[in-house]
Amino acid sequence: MKSFRKELFFNTTKRMEFINITRDVEKALNESGIQEGLCLVNAMHITASVFINDDEHGLIADYEKWLEELAPHEPLSRYRHNLTGEDNGDAHHKRQIMGREVVVAVTEGRLDFGTWEQIFYGEFDGRRRKRVLVKIIGE
Ligand code: ZN
Repeated sequence: MKSFRKELFFNTTKRMEFINITRDVEKALNESGIQEGLCLVNAMHITASVFINDDEHGLIADYEKWLEELAPHEPLSRYRHNLTGEDNGDAHHKRQIMGREVVVAVTEGRLDFGTWEQIFYGEFDGRRRKRVLVKIIGE
């Protein structure tokens, strides 16, 4: 069995942002040379997510509104976590609901997606450098 590991880096300009990283993951898969196996992609931070959905800008805007309604950034006093001196209590909640990672099957050297599926990095406490792990195992 072969194993391949790669880190992707992101530094968003906004606090909350969604980035389609499908091409980056496909590039990693090509570099791995793996034809059959599994591809894990996960955020390496507890205020960011990796998830799969449609790349449709209305949906992305809906996510931003929905997440801000569920866990508004302000008032900062809403979150006990912010008593630690941080201001990202909301970002932990947003990451929790959007998830940590995805696993995609690798078939004949390609990501074996369902219809319209794309991989996204979801940032909830941006404007600093953060990492995503791509780990691929197989033959
Ligand atoms: Zn925090």
